[in-house]
Amino acid sequence: IQPHIAAIVPYPPGKPMDELEREYGVTNAIKLASNENPWGPSPKAVAAIGAMLANLHRYPDGSSYSLTEAVARWMGSASDEIVLGNGSNEVIEFLVKAFVGTGDAVITSHPSFLMYQKFVQVRGGENVIVPLKEMRHDLEAISAAVTDRTRLIFIDNPNNPTGTLISREDFDRFLRSLPQSVIVVVDEAYVDFVDPAVRIDILGYIRQPEQIPAVVSLRTFSKAFGLAGLRVGFGVMHREVAALLHRVRQPFNINLPAQAGALAALDDLEHYQRTLSGTAEGRTWLSAEVAELGCTPYPSHTNFFLIDVQGDATKLYEAMLYKGVIVRSMKAYGYPDFIRITVGTMAENQRFVSALADCLRDLG
Ligand code: PMP
Repeated sequence: IQPHIAAIVPYPPGKPMDELEREYGVTNAIKLASNENPWGPSPKAVAAIGAMLANLHRYPDGSSYSLTEAVARWMGSASDEIVLGNGSNEVIEFLVKAFVGTGDAVITSHPSFLMYQKFVQVRGGENVIVPLKEMRHDLEAISAAVTDRTRLIFIDNPNNPTGTLISREDFDRFLRSLPQSVIVVVDEAYVDFVDPAVRIDILGYIRQPEQIPAVVSLRTFSKAFGLAGLRVGFGVMHREVAALLHRVRQPFNINLPAQAGALAALDDLEHYQRTLSGTAEGRTWLSAEVAELGCTPYPSHTNFFLIDVQGDATKLYEAMLYKGVIVRSMKAYGYPDFIRITVGTMAENQRFVSALADCLRDLG
């Protein structure tokens, strides 16, 4: 047994609904714990996947040619600047495989998305973990933590679980403070939900790597496109970086239904837009309701947000499970008074608020 593998603590996914039914006897559970799209997949994607099933005896296109072309059009980039993954998780894994060896260092923030650190552990790399400052990435501290062993810096923007966003000015200053020997990976899994007026133009940075380090943007079909179960994500990056990632990518990493479904989802931007407007509406409504109940919602640029429940978040999480509402306690992330919830459909949001009111009253 390799000690660096034995030391890895598995990723804790949100509680599955059928587990809730088995363990708590709840039959009509709702899950607002994994930042999924509550409106489901695009019907066009479902139809395209269905039509593909008769071809399951065939291998998929090993290079995902059509989907890569469509993603490049959607991003306004070239297809050799795109690398598709089995979820954006797999692109994170490609980056770590390609650039991190034993003893190399990778900088991440805490609390932030946990998978970066796990892939680094698998490679026997060193995780340099910089705490958030007032719930935001501490870019100055990250910059100060860079050494000649640093290979990658992961910046989750907007950050999961805080929902905070880096300003364009801060990001620009940060990039210019770094040596060109590192690669900056900006995980934009939730950027679709961000007002375009305040988004960072990552593509502009990818194309001009002369004075700044190489920049990679990670995107996913799991959130705004509602295809988390299909497992498709991608990275946009300089074509030289992309060429390296293709060397560590196995062929056929995007399966046949996944290629068809993601392609069709890109052709249904109405569904995507409805998701964005429904999310914004639900977030505003939920924030007001939660505040009415004496809790403090934390402002967010995404489809989830933190709530300061002014008490033990884990007790509240447990009590909510009995009401059939799955959220996340942020205790394990170092915020013992916070839960994180995903914006649901209006019916789900109403159920959440009424369960929260009951649980707060019961817990006193
Ligand atoms: N990055 C962040 C910040 C996430 O929250 C998630 C999913 N929870 C992912 C990446 C992984 O997404 P995917 O489903 O594309 O692997």
